Amino acid sequence: MSSKRENGSAPLLRINHVKKEYPGVVPLRDVNLTVEEGDVISVIGPSGTGKSTLLRMINRMEEATAGEIFFHDEEITSPSCDTGKLRQKIGMIFQSFNLFPHLTVIENIMAAPVALKNLSKQEAYDKAKALLGKVGLVEKMFGYPRELSGGQQQRIAIVRALAMEPELLLLDEPTSALDPTMTGEVESVLNQLGKDGVTMMIVTHSMELARRVSSRVLYMDEGEIYEEGTPDEIFTSPRREKTRQFIHRLKVLTIVVEQREFDFVGKTNEINVFAQKNGVPRLMTHFLLLLFEELVVHLILPRIAESPRIVWSLEYDAKNEQAQMSVNYNGGVFNAMEGGDELSMGIIRRCAKTVRYESVADEKMPNHIFATVALNKE
Ligand code: ADP
Ligand code: MG
Repeated sequence: MSSKRENGSAPLLRINHVKKEYPGVVPLRDVNLTVEEGDVISVIGPSGTGKSTLLRMINRMEEATAGEIFFHDEEITSPSCDTGKLRQKIGMIFQSFNLFPHLTVIENIMAAPVALKNLSKQEAYDKAKALLGKVGLVEKMFGYPRELSGGQQQRIAIVRALAMEPELLLLDEPTSALDPTMTGEVESVLNQLGKDGVTMMIVTHSMELARRVSSRVLYMDEGEIYEEGTPDEIFTSPRREKTRQFIHRLKVLTIVVEQREFDFVGKTNEINVFAQKNGVPRLMTHFLLLLFEELVVHLILPRIAESPRIVWSLEYDAKNEQAQMSVNYNGGVFNAMEGGDELSMGIIRRCAKTVRYESVADEKMPNHIFATVALNKE
């Protein structure tokens, strides 16, 4: 599926000097882009820079004010384009999963292939079941959307789109309504699809998603694709000023602990200095310090027999006043939050909005704890 096109044939998608104007605002001035089969493209950038508008124009939910978009050889910005047919080939996934609430999971997935692709019910059923297997949700096939978690619903929405065998899948903030655990589930599915050769354009605020899943990253700003590169180029060495500012909006601090008798006061001071410099609210700083102490000092260190290595890191998103904290550690595979001191666990639950453990068996530091800290706990 991921084969690059033959010499001379048209690319999957070509966007040529596209402009989009709304009354009083021109989110897109001049967008140019070529998408090849098998590309997995993340689209990032500040809010209001026209990322959603761009996706919506590609499946004709919006009309371009000027310029052309070609899908293969066909100009889809032309009035004669058959929108229904086009949407069979270009699937779209939204932040809110939009499943049919009155249909079971399997019916949700079978509906379009039966109605639009003339598949028999048996064929559609078999295919839906196979796809559900791929995302680990076969056992939910006769359930209703309301019985599923957000992450499960989003995986079903992705399967529903895939059942139409689209040539291009557009995803607008597919994980932004999900908590970290569910985000991880959906990211894994997207990662697998990318490896299977599914061509995707993913608008996302998650740098982790963009880094992990995509082959190309587009940074949108000033009404255009302001900078484009591999995830490494964009996140590690962006060339242009606005890209750099956007990427660095996320402030990062990393603290490494490699001795049982480490300099606790020095490390907490580093966290304090970082917090002051970056305007982290005082209460949030207090929570972060408590999380550092409970996790590293009380729960993790005492359980690593020798040569401890603990990497505690913090990403602070100043714009959303949210912190992501992660702790990676060695000492065999173990969840430090299981069987740990109840007092410590109580403090952790109070300080973190969400917290989860994940193990990766083949790494030197196989244990990962992720927590989000935000003051607007609902
Ligand atoms: P992003 O997805 O990058 O946050 P959008 O594509 O949603 O940005 O919006 C880009 C700009 O266009 C914003 O200023 C938004 O207010 C405006 N906009 C989007 N849709 C409409 C609409 N239907 N009518 C008027 N203005 C709109
Ligand atoms: Mg948007």
